[in-house]
Amino acid sequence: MKLKEQPPFPWQKTLWSNLYSQFQSQQLAHAYLISGSRGTGKNLFANAFAKFVMCLLPNKDVACGKCKNCLLGGESGHPDIIKILVEEGSRDIKIEQIRSLSDSLMQTSQGGRAKITLIADAHHMNTAAANALLKTLEEPTSSTYIFLLSHLPGSLPATIRSRCQKLIMPTPSNIEAVDWLKQQITDQEDPQSLAIAAGNCPLLALDLARSGGLDNQQQFLQKLTQLTSGKTSIQATVGLATKLGETEVIGYLREVSTMLIKHLLINQQPSEIESHQAILLELFRVKRWPINKYY
Ligand SMILES: [Zn+2]
Repeated sequence: MKLKEQPPFPWQKTLWSNLYSQFQSQQLAHAYLISGSRGTGKNLFANAFAKFVMCLLPNKDVACGKCKNCLLGGESGHPDIIKILVEEGSRDIKIEQIRSLSDSLMQTSQGGRAKITLIADAHHMNTAAANALLKTLEEPTSSTYIFLLSHLPGSLPATIRSRCQKLIMPTPSNIEAVDWLKQQITDQEDPQSLAIAAGNCPLLALDLARSGGLDNQQQFLQKLTQLTSGKTSIQATVGLATKLGETEVIGYLREVSTMLIKHLLINQQPSEIESHQAILLELFRVKRWPINKYY
């Protein structure tokens, strides 16, 4: 995903300066767990921070992008920045991936600075992989740093979580998300609708814009509301869901459920919700709790 701006993004600046201070005082932890909603840019943030640590001539607290270390490895990045993620066609991060990580952490770093591992969607580690990682976390080698990134940190074993310094990536406000999106999208796209559809998670919103996902999401939600009011059939709804793809449809339902729960919990008027979601809100009979009555 090509962006017109590199991390730290505005909502990430506090977290960045915290890490920068730790780096300056040579107090970086061996392992971090960065949690936060999907689409808040955790992976880009950690990658940019790793590049900064490797950079030979940083511009204060960001990588220069021009030095030998910044250019080393080209598109795939510096060889001392090891990226682990769920491989294509797989559902899990596997033990083999963690074993080969442990092996490469034993070898000397190529730039002589540090070795930084980024584990994206760390909650996807299967049990064997998590156990193997635990060994690495228990016996850290010097100048090695591991960043676990996850929007479902509770799914990680407690033994792993307890060995990481925990950082929370905030979700920006609607105004912040819209301001950032305006710089990334075309004039034909509506930053407000995208931000709302993505729960103000800017990278998720951008993904929706670039994949045409917003239209698909609206089309599916419209069908769902039509179904509940008897204006379409189950077959037609399932047909559309099949056409859009299982993963996408589950994603839309998850986004909408999350949004509904947030609206319920924080007692917010549904005025900002897209029209189809407002209908869904009615259909789900989500009413604001008359809390004051009981006190
Ligand atoms: Zn550099």
